[in-house]
Amino acid sequence: MRRKIIAGNWKMNLDHREGAALASTIVDGLKDKEDLPEVVLIPSFTTLPAVAGELEGSEILTGAQDMWYEKAGAFTGEVSAEMLSSLGCRYVLVGHSERRHVIGEGAGLLADKLRAVLDGGLSPIYCVGELLDQREAGKAESVVEEQLRSVLSGVSRREMSGVVLAYEPVWAIGTGKTATPEDASSMHGHIRDVLSRIFDAGTADETIILYGGSVKPENATDLMSDPDIDGALVGGAALKADSFLGIILYRAT
Ligand code: PEP
Repeated sequence: MRRKIIAGNWKMNLDHREGAALASTIVDGLKDKEDLPEVVLIPSFTTLPAVAGELEGSEILTGAQDMWYEKAGAFTGEVSAEMLSSLGCRYVLVGHSERRHVIGEGAGLLADKLRAVLDGGLSPIYCVGELLDQREAGKAESVVEEQLRSVLSGVSRREMSGVVLAYEPVWAIGTGKTATPEDASSMHGHIRDVLSRIFDAGTADETIILYGGSVKPENATDLMSDPDIDGALVGGAALKADSFLGIILYRAT
């Protein structure tokens, strides 16, 4: 049975004071609530230690937005798996569309990063998703398949149990446009089909696949009632306690 995960990617927002305050409000908002999904906060590097401090004693986990693939050395501006682990970090985003399309990270670098995340004892949240023109050209499925094959081909079946995937159509990120539950469901089904061909049916069935792209409290229930959608990677709506709590508590909305 796959667990549900709701992860909030804060991107380059919230300094350490603001981040600690938001983390503390989220901890309070989830007190005494039952049947919760796994909740993950993904702040910037400078905000991460303060957030980790606020989350101590709670069930909420942290993730990082990026990581370098070498263990240590002359890599100015970068952080390693060990540095993130030492803060208690559990997850690292790999292949977020802003890293692919704004910063220009390609498949080779993403494969190296994903490998280093696994070797460092952390879990990657590997993001895939098509651009609008690729969807309009009928290429959404082949683009996503290539993103999966190019980076997951070096991962073993055993290691896949530590990999979380996120389908994030790029045209739906930060735009207010959400994929219909049918479109999201169909792509999640396609991703499971690709996983069964790269690995096997068991791996396809066990892999957690999140949906991301303008998820908000109003659409969370519809999206997450689909049996193939295992939770959400949330950007904008994760920056405010009310909206993020509304998504986490989607079963109650
Ligand atoms: C994201 O950045 O991963 C994301 C899904 O952003 P938003 O929810 O703002 O579309």
